[in-house]
Amino acid sequence: MVVALVGATVAALVFVGFLFVEWKKRRVYSKYMDKIAISIGEETGAPPLYIYERLRKKLNELEQRVIETERERRNVFTILNNITDPIIIVRGDGVVTFSNIAGRDVTRPGVEGRKVYEVVENYHLLEMFEKALQTGELQSGDISLAVNGETRYYDAKIVPIKLDQESERYIIVLHDTTKEKQLDKLRREFISNVSHELRTPLTSIHGYAEALLDDDLSNKDLVRRFLGIIESESARMTRLINDLLDLEKLESGEAKFNFTIVDMYQVVERVLSIVKPIADDYGVQLTWACEGEKLVHGDFDRLVQLVLNLVDNAVKYTSIKESGEKKVIVSCYETEEKVVFQVSDTGPGIPEEAQRRLFERFYRVDKARSRKVGGTGLGLSIVKTIAEKHDAKIEFESKVGEGTTFRVIFNKPKLVKEERDDASI
Ligand code: ADP
Repeated sequence: MVVALVGATVAALVFVGFLFVEWKKRRVYSKYMDKIAISIGEETGAPPLYIYERLRKKLNELEQRVIETERERRNVFTILNNITDPIIIVRGDGVVTFSNIAGRDVTRPGVEGRKVYEVVENYHLLEMFEKALQTGELQSGDISLAVNGETRYYDAKIVPIKLDQESERYIIVLHDTTKEKQLDKLRREFISNVSHELRTPLTSIHGYAEALLDDDLSNKDLVRRFLGIIESESARMTRLINDLLDLEKLESGEAKFNFTIVDMYQVVERVLSIVKPIADDYGVQLTWACEGEKLVHGDFDRLVQLVLNLVDNAVKYTSIKESGEKKVIVSCYETEEKVVFQVSDTGPGIPEEAQRRLFERFYRVDKARSRKVGGTGLGLSIVKTIAEKHDAKIEFESKVGEGTTFRVIFNKPKLVKEERDDASI
């Protein structure tokens, strides 16, 4: 009996103990449930399943947001990498934290993680960085960097920004100004060339006019000779100004091109009627071979100008050759796809070192020689511009003492090609 009583008591105690442990567990469980509910902004005491559902939703939202942030971060990098100006971001301790692709082209390899002093090869830019560090103010200046073996010019800016209380970044932005610099140089060269070109005939005109004014004008021959010089120098100036205006109109696109189907034979015929008497005068034998229709798509007057400049050069420069035969041959022929206009001469030829610059404005192989024939140094620039407008290619070969051949290669007009193809079916 006693044993049974003790047994029942122990069982009751174990049961109570169990209940107590269970109660304790539940309390801890509901305490944590409440904590979870508070942390996700729900009321305490809500059913666990409800809390679970809310928690799951919150976690999903959070995951979505992390994915979104990562996508945005990647987008920012893609945008920065696609900006063609170099952008380099540097920490206050001088370590580069980011460089876009363009930035990597202007710095030493492995730019990210290295000190800016190690990767940037420009003393002035580093000085600007030092100054931005000291003053916390935007710095700007012009710098030059060696990029792939050539010098490029940049407008550099260093923008200090504060990210939070302890960290700051220095954004180096470089804007490539090489093209502007080159254009500026060309513009200055152009002005200096034009002034020089105009000054020479003007000085001459002024000198001879002054001499005439000081003279008693009794020597008619002398007066006539001086007036002749004044006349030819003014004609030279007029030619120069006309060529300049023409070139400017052509290059600015102001010149209107009236594109039609043009027969190069007729172009050549027109040019020869102008140049033949001059060639005869100069003792240059001018022959041509341009049989039958040679059709191109172009502007008749501009093509006459192109051919005239080339044939006129050939006659003029051949005429001043001191010895040997003086011959100019003009021809046009066609290939499967092209129509070719060609002018060959037995003139003095063009030295190899000068050939690269031949189409530059005002470039002359021999200033005295060009002056002698009344050249302006603009003829071939005009030829080049007109050829470009016609989508035509210019080729030339020349050998000093033997002569020069210029070739302008036109695409055949579509219609002509189609007709020919049809005919061959
Ligand atoms: P220019 O008005 O001086 O003739 P161009 O632009 O027409 O100027 O030609 C540039 C230079 O190229 C000339 O000064 C001349 O030295 C050279 N040149 C052009 N055509 C010939 C040629 N057929 N034979 C020899 N030299 C030539």
